[in-house]
Amino acid sequence: MICRQCPRACGAERTPERGLGLCRMPQAPVVARAALHLWEEPPISGERGSGTIFFSGCSLGCVFCQNEKISHQDFGKPITLERLGQICDELIAQGAHNINFVNPTHYAHVVSALLDAHPLPVPVVWNTGGYDSVDTLRSLEGKVDIYLPDLKYLDGTTAARYSAVSDYPQRATEAIREMVRQTGPYELEEGGLMRRGVIIRHLILPGQVHQAKAVMDWVAESFPPKTVLFSLMSQYTPWGDLSACPEVNRRLRPGEIRSAQEYMANLGLEGFTQERTSAKEEYTPPFDLTGV
Ligand code: SF4
Repeated sequence: MICRQCPRACGAERTPERGLGLCRMPQAPVVARAALHLWEEPPISGERGSGTIFFSGCSLGCVFCQNEKISHQDFGKPITLERLGQICDELIAQGAHNINFVNPTHYAHVVSALLDAHPLPVPVVWNTGGYDSVDTLRSLEGKVDIYLPDLKYLDGTTAARYSAVSDYPQRATEAIREMVRQTGPYELEEGGLMRRGVIIRHLILPGQVHQAKAVMDWVAESFPPKTVLFSLMSQYTPWGDLSACPEVNRRLRPGEIRSAQEYMANLGLEGFTQERTSAKEEYTPPFDLTGV
């Protein structure tokens, strides 16, 4: 393959001999964890949990990444497509309400091939940092039921500083529009589980409440009421080496969280908020090859 799957479009062949791309991952899937996860938004986790499958590698370079061990250090185990199908079946047998591919952007070809060969009886969730290409998303139309993208920034300078991609705002907003085009307005089952739709996530960063407000404005202006859900996340925890960006080397202040949450309420955005007390390790599960 000549890979142009994500907006980096680096054209790598993704073999050790011929070179890996900016995501540093080979063509075959590398997975760090597969387990039921109870810490997604309530319509995704439900009572029994979401069947999360964490892919290793990443085409973004977020300085504050909470999944650094797999995203930056590339921890994980190479597996076959057949094994990936078995993992999905095992999670469904454990009671997973859905199969939740986490950080799947650089493995779109794998997810697409898997779902062709092995359709799943539960909703498929595409849980992404938002840096997806529209063409790649189109190849997933009809296969993915729920999109769970981040919208991290609407300002290219900040995106370059914290995630090493200045075109993130343009790419992520295009991608989210495509996701909403595919799914249409969100649909919840009786009991509140999500069957179909888009939940847009935003993690408030220290000193970046204005960014959170700009993101919320964009969501409110882009989609009519009852179309998407919005998840405002406050569990930012300083992580890894932040010496190049010391301004984000702290937890959020209560006033920052309150200001963003009040803004969301005043805009009338439907969705979810997380309290500061949620800034604990359960949100970052152990990457120890569980279930792989
Ligand atoms: S998915 Fe990886 S190899 Fe493919 S274009 Fe993106 S960074 Fe390059």
